[in-house]
Amino acid sequence: MAENSGISWTHNTQNFWVGCDKVAPECAHCYIDRILVKQGREPWGQIYRTQTWADPWKWEAECIRDRNAKRIFTCSLSDFFHVKADPWRKEAWAIIKRTPHLVWLVLTKRPQLIEARLPHDWGEGYPNVWLGVSTGCRMTLNKMDVLRRIPAAVRWVSAEPLLEDISQDINLDGFHWLVAGGESGAGNEYQWDPAMDWKAELNNESGRRSMRYEWAANLRDKVKAAGLAFMFKQVTAPKSGFGYNALDGKDWHEFPPAPNGLEWAPRQPIPDKYAMSEAQWRNFANEITAEPMPILNSRTGKSTAEGLLLSEDHLQAPKGKR
Ligand code: SF4
Repeated sequence: MAENSGISWTHNTQNFWVGCDKVAPECAHCYIDRILVKQGREPWGQIYRTQTWADPWKWEAECIRDRNAKRIFTCSLSDFFHVKADPWRKEAWAIIKRTPHLVWLVLTKRPQLIEARLPHDWGEGYPNVWLGVSTGCRMTLNKMDVLRRIPAAVRWVSAEPLLEDISQDINLDGFHWLVAGGESGAGNEYQWDPAMDWKAELNNESGRRSMRYEWAANLRDKVKAAGLAFMFKQVTAPKSGFGYNALDGKDWHEFPPAPNGLEWAPRQPIPDKYAMSEAQWRNFANEITAEPMPILNSRTGKSTAEGLLLSEDHLQAPKGKR
């Protein structure tokens, strides 16, 4: 079996380009700098075209041979709708359209840029493209409203990192799938505070924000009550793939069906690296979240959701970044 991505909800990742800018609270501890700096690239403010554009043809051929479909996440090291990738996106859409056995999971934090950047023959949406938006807090839920207005075969939400309980406020109308999970990353674990200045938090590169178990369980209940597919990736953990990934003792790895009656290709099992049992994790999480530990003192005012939607790709790169 071919090597799968380390991201458990996709078979493979395809980065047509890499590099990004932080535009939302969920971006604060974005991992791309840790990868791109090792490649000798500046992670913030610049976008680089990659040399992996032939990989999808290989995956498409495998799926044709095996008569199945694979999920392909783009972009894991950038944002598909970043304005600086405009010169290359048309070419990427052409590959996406010509690989019908690949289901492209296009995830963005910039839904306001989607509409003007769709291909001319998008119509009601390519059947093999699932458009997704990231939101893990109430401040950014309105990104779903933008995506709701755009035709798509499947609309989905990545509530990861889940920063607070959004289950009472989220509107799932027009959506088909939700992925939830806690943040992973080295350094201090702390409780996110919606009153803190989220732009100032972007300067805190390390750390991870606690997700309470109940937030994920409440969201699962809301998603299941609406009849949608639900995926729980993992709890808050120092490293991706090392956190417990069950809710109430059960794995939640649900997906909308593949197009054209195809079956999903098998995926390598998620590695059994869990450092803690569910009971241990609950105790651990309760200890951490009992005393909120904001690492910022800055409280210069709550950002409005409208402000977030209007934010473009030109926030300053975090201090100390190469
Ligand atoms: S949009 Fe995604 S890739 Fe870009 S900075 Fe935010 S989290 Fe990182």
